[in-house]
Amino acid sequence: MKIAILPGDGIGTEIVAEAVKVLQALDLSFESETALVGGAAYEAHGHPLPEATLNLAKAADAVLFGAVGDWKYDKLERALRPEQAILGLRKHLGLFANFRPAICYEQLTHASSLKPELVAGLDILIIRELTGDIYFGAPRGRRTAVDGHFPGAEEAFDTMRYSKPEIERIAHVAFQAARKRGKRVTSVDKANVLETFQFWKDVVTEVHVQYPDVALDHMYVDNAAMQLVKAPKKFDVVVTGNMFGDILSDEAAMLTGSIGMLPSASLDRNNKGLYEPSHGSAPDIAGKGIANPLATILSAAMMLRFSLNQAEAADRIESAVRTVLSAGLRTADIWSEGTQKVSTREMGDAVVSAVRGASVKTITTITKS
Ligand code: NAD
Repeated sequence: MKIAILPGDGIGTEIVAEAVKVLQALDLSFESETALVGGAAYEAHGHPLPEATLNLAKAADAVLFGAVGDWKYDKLERALRPEQAILGLRKHLGLFANFRPAICYEQLTHASSLKPELVAGLDILIIRELTGDIYFGAPRGRRTAVDGHFPGAEEAFDTMRYSKPEIERIAHVAFQAARKRGKRVTSVDKANVLETFQFWKDVVTEVHVQYPDVALDHMYVDNAAMQLVKAPKKFDVVVTGNMFGDILSDEAAMLTGSIGMLPSASLDRNNKGLYEPSHGSAPDIAGKGIANPLATILSAAMMLRFSLNQAEAADRIESAVRTVLSAGLRTADIWSEGTQKVSTREMGDAVVSAVRGASVKTITTITKS
């Protein structure tokens, strides 16, 4: 097994270090190599996704990614901005299906911004299409308007588009994932206004014929955003396009208590994948040692399960995370009265101890010392 490790910027380096420690504690045999990506790669090599980094990612069985970005790069031309690295990796590795589970751990129901009874037992899987939509459609740019409300004015425009095969393959992924869970798919669109999403709805409905054992319903994105905070537990698998998925998965993240708890996987057609926390590089807390590493540690567990065929090792990590949460350990983002506030490194150490089978009491002693 070869893993490419790309920590990136901001808290990326801090949280990936903890996930690597946890992987090492499993005593599996794997080879890993680390490379620069994002702003760190731009500083060193003048490009956010240098060829060496891309080649390493291509050669690996899986990529463990931290996060990229910092406000200081906002003035760079778009192609050189750190965030282009993640878009480039998705494109070159053929990653089209983004899995974002939103699970509310029973120990964290009080960290959610919703009432505990609304989120207790929450287990949603958001599947976001990654290659199409308004993020990649051409043409795009700035120009002088020739029509519209203000002819002659400066304007900007993007193009929303989806091809039939793009929608079909993500629909298959969603129905197959639902078969292993609650057998319900909600397809989120904006078919009432957008041609692209009427097409999306039609194609998803067509594919559904092959999955009679899975229930399908359609929901407009504005309603889905509302239902996610009103009655989130009624969702099982949510499948949607690139932009709606980007927004809804962050909304779902907050239901779980903190975006610092949410792992993600981006898979190609052969289940090779890139695994990263759902959050960004959090420049506001970078270098302070307070970031929550659990989303990245749980992403490493997804990597073991989806790409490396090590389901048992993945279970060990997930159960270790439950153990440390039950022991009352919390990073600042999920801390509440009566729990013990720990640093990024202390949280990583505690998960390592739990993976190795240390008791909850031992974990608390170790992290306090
Ligand atoms: P962000 O996710 O980095 O941060 C949003 C908020 O959540 C911040 O208050 C941050 O402190 C907090 N947060 C995030 N992760 C946390 C963690 N593990 N523990 C505790 N708190 C955490 O989003 P942003 O502030 O909008 O963006 C910051 C930078 O990250 C930008 O440059 C953006 O482009 C980039 N970004 C990168 C990715 C990626 O690498 N895939 C994704 C999203 C944003």
